[in-house]
Amino acid sequence: MCGIFGVQGHGEASNLTYLGLYSMQHRGQESAGIASTDGEQIYRIRKPKLVSDAFSQHSFQILKGRSSIGHVRYSTTGDGGMSNVQPFSVETDIGKISIVHNGNLTNYAEIKKELIQSGAILQATTDTEVILHLIARSNKATLLERIYECFEKIQGAYSLLFLTPQELIATRDPLGIRPLCMGQLKTGQYVFSSETCAFDLIGAKYIRDVEPGEVVIVDKDNNLSSSTFSKNKKRASCIFEHIYFSRPDSKVFSSSAYIVRKNLGRQLAKEHPLKADYVISVPDSGNYAALGYSEQSGIPFEFGFIRNHYVGRTFIEPKQSIRGFGVKVKLNPVSMILEGKDLIVVDDSIVRGTTSKKIVKMLKDAGAGKVHMMISSPPFKSPCYYGIDTPNKAELLASHMSLEEIKDFIGADSVSYLSEEGMYSSLQQGQKNNFCDACFTANYPVKPSQV
Ligand code: 5GP
Ligand code: MG
Repeated sequence: MCGIFGVQGHGEASNLTYLGLYSMQHRGQESAGIASTDGEQIYRIRKPKLVSDAFSQHSFQILKGRSSIGHVRYSTTGDGGMSNVQPFSVETDIGKISIVHNGNLTNYAEIKKELIQSGAILQATTDTEVILHLIARSNKATLLERIYECFEKIQGAYSLLFLTPQELIATRDPLGIRPLCMGQLKTGQYVFSSETCAFDLIGAKYIRDVEPGEVVIVDKDNNLSSSTFSKNKKRASCIFEHIYFSRPDSKVFSSSAYIVRKNLGRQLAKEHPLKADYVISVPDSGNYAALGYSEQSGIPFEFGFIRNHYVGRTFIEPKQSIRGFGVKVKLNPVSMILEGKDLIVVDDSIVRGTTSKKIVKMLKDAGAGKVHMMISSPPFKSPCYYGIDTPNKAELLASHMSLEEIKDFIGADSVSYLSEEGMYSSLQQGQKNNFCDACFTANYPVKPSQV
């Protein structure tokens, strides 16, 4: 999973990109990068850091020009080395090109093999690099034609922004697996972002999503043109964006993630009406579904956990002798509220089960009575090949455990999941056919080549 942002024709382009990335830090904490252009050169800064640490005031003097793209990375393919930090830039026979990518190509291994056999020198270990190679090697005259040609070869998930000295190009794969939104600043310039929360921060208005299979070009004079490289009507947008990944204040695939999550919680209460003293959430991801569960059931919502928001990646693990606090660094149960109370604990998903197991133990240690885990999505059974960093199948708890076994593993008094139908009824337009739900159903819309 990653976040991408781009702006064309603004005097503070790289500053806006920085702000856009800042609002999407949740989409990737491994690295951050910005490229900009002044119509001639492409400038670039990339760091294996959080956005707040990767750039300084001085960065914006380097990142000159009126057009810019940026990326926050959450590694799915390739290691975390600097060679994999985006934006990537190349010099081709048709000029300089920089690129940012959210998604994952399912036929990366095949394309990489073909490229290497034909003499290409690959520097990164990530799928994004092969897109640039295909474009650089093409014989077509224009970048647009080369993009079209490249998209005939690549498969899987790709929301992409291309920056050249003249143009900003935004495009999404034909199934629309990953999001990409288009907005406009009050002063008229177009902006593109994985999530609309970036638009809110910079005062841009959300216009619409870039359509699956669409290529949008914005030139230096802010003229916008659009074409479609795939007439495929089938969509497969990632349902997990709604369940967990996106910020709740974002519009995702043109619905509010906040409202969807609350609906998921309401539906959970309808499907699994249990008695308890309080509904609590596992912050922050479980907050909105917990509110929905509470409203629907009439059981009061309490903050059962307080989250320390200052736990960063640089947290230093203490020696063995003072360990054993685990997840408590981040989440501490409020024992004064929880003592002797039966609880409905809402979280968005169970992946490996390590969080849930610790959560249940902390609640029991804090003196809670019954602990009922309520999950606002169906059992997560199958790995994602389209850009969400899920462990392999064997590590996914629900892939090999029954409900009873999961309950015993995490130590809860009960575990309940939302049904698939319930999940779809919670979406504003209910559009089952428009989503990829392979993590719950193993119905993969594009067959990954490694399976
Ligand atoms: P588990 O402990 O079962 O492996 O993880 C479940 C918890 O991780 C849930 O609280 C959920 O919000 C969160 N989660 C779900 N998917 C992801 C993901 O792709 N990345 C990260 N960092 N957390 C996730
Ligand atoms: Mg969580």
